[in-house]
Amino acid sequence: MHEMSITQGIIELCLQHAGGRRIMSLGVEIGELSSVVPEAIEFCFEACSRDTLLEGAQLIITRIPGLGLCQECGAETPLADLFAPCNLCGSCHVKIVAGEEMRVTEIEVED
Ligand SMILES: [Zn+2]
Repeated sequence: MHEMSITQGIIELCLQHAGGRRIMSLGVEIGELSSVVPEAIEFCFEACSRDTLLEGAQLIITRIPGLGLCQECGAETPLADLFAPCNLCGSCHVKIVAGEEMRVTEIEVED
């Protein structure tokens, strides 16, 4: 289950940035094309944040829809999965421009 190591990475990153202060909330972006399951992150976060400065912090997960740029016709196309074709011309030469994110976007610490 790789969500556990991802969550631990998120927690370590937050602790580094918080400089010893308690963390109230954190925002995380998870692309819909990434293999990360948000529910699993939430579950792991509860377990991993216990007895740390993140305990009880609000975890705000934002999902980023998949978006591709067709290399044939130049159109932007929504991507339901990593190998989805262009919805305009049907080409499979689609460059992924969004949807693979997995990052911490903001951290709110106690004053
Ligand atoms: Zn196209």
